[in-house]
Amino acid sequence: MIEATELTKRYGERTAVDRLSFTVRPGRVTGFLGPNGAGKSTTMRLILGLDAASGGRVTVGGKAYRDLPVPLRAVGSLLDAKGVHGGRSAYHHLAGLAASNGIPRRRVDEVLDLVGLPAATARGRAKGFSLGMGQRLGIAAALIGDPEVLILDEPVNGLDTEGIRWIRELMKSLAAEGRTVFLSSHLMSEMELTADHLIVIGRGRLIADTTMRDFIETNSRAHTLVRTPEPEKLRALLESVGAQVRLDATGGWRVDGPDAATIGNLARDHGLALHELTSTHSSLEEVYTALSQSSVEYRTENQKEAAR
Ligand code: ADP
Repeated sequence: MIEATELTKRYGERTAVDRLSFTVRPGRVTGFLGPNGAGKSTTMRLILGLDAASGGRVTVGGKAYRDLPVPLRAVGSLLDAKGVHGGRSAYHHLAGLAASNGIPRRRVDEVLDLVGLPAATARGRAKGFSLGMGQRLGIAAALIGDPEVLILDEPVNGLDTEGIRWIRELMKSLAAEGRTVFLSSHLMSEMELTADHLIVIGRGRLIADTTMRDFIETNSRAHTLVRTPEPEKLRALLESVGAQVRLDATGGWRVDGPDAATIGNLARDHGLALHELTSTHSSLEEVYTALSQSSVEYRTENQKEAAR
């Protein structure tokens, strides 16, 4: 469990994290969302004791990071996958971490196995690693102390689809074991597939702390996907009752406005056959983009980013 209470971080005049309170609970993957500059990395650094808070507090398993007897056993993190010294082998990097934290050396082989890094590769210099292998090594380091809490900043950055799917499944399985998994990503489609819960911030402040499902359902406009052998007729009909109709990525009509029953009845009344009529919600990406455009919190931040 991670608990932030009125957590604040100021850099000179700038408030990067502003009285932020939230709880990241065990047993589920919690996604951390916010536009660039919202304060996600700063918050993660505060949790990990890499930066001192200007106000408030944050604890991991009830303790401030600096009070954890063996930090790596309580919390594992991946903040920058390129953090490994290029001249050392992955194996030595992990063995060094294990030794300095009183973790048995056999755990190195366990985590290498867990992240799918072959022993021969792990003995070679990390400098020759691909981004994907570097990411696996970073995750191996995060897992070495078998921690209850995992914090990962953009873990899928630069990975191919296979690597992305692997991280997704790993995060879910770690959460299913009862661990606390806190994860930031700017890839909304991936976040939607991975996270059960969301904490959304803007300009260092809390905007939402809710389940993925609630976040999408509360903020999305329901729409209906319709297919018909007479698409133009149906479109004209729907537009005549004020519906917004556009082509869906799959070639059907995406209809905003009337619900599925109204559309079905309308088609029947005009003798039009329907081959599909599906009520659906927006994706996380659509909801998040709409929120970004409508919220002052977000807009101000994005404009600042654009002006930089
Ligand atoms: P995010 O991870 O959401 O993109 P950050 O936590 O990196 O956001 O940054 C939040 C704000 O704090 C930004 O305006 C950033 O410029 C500022 N900031 C972050 N780190 C520092 C620092 N070391 N010194 C000064 N300002 C910083």
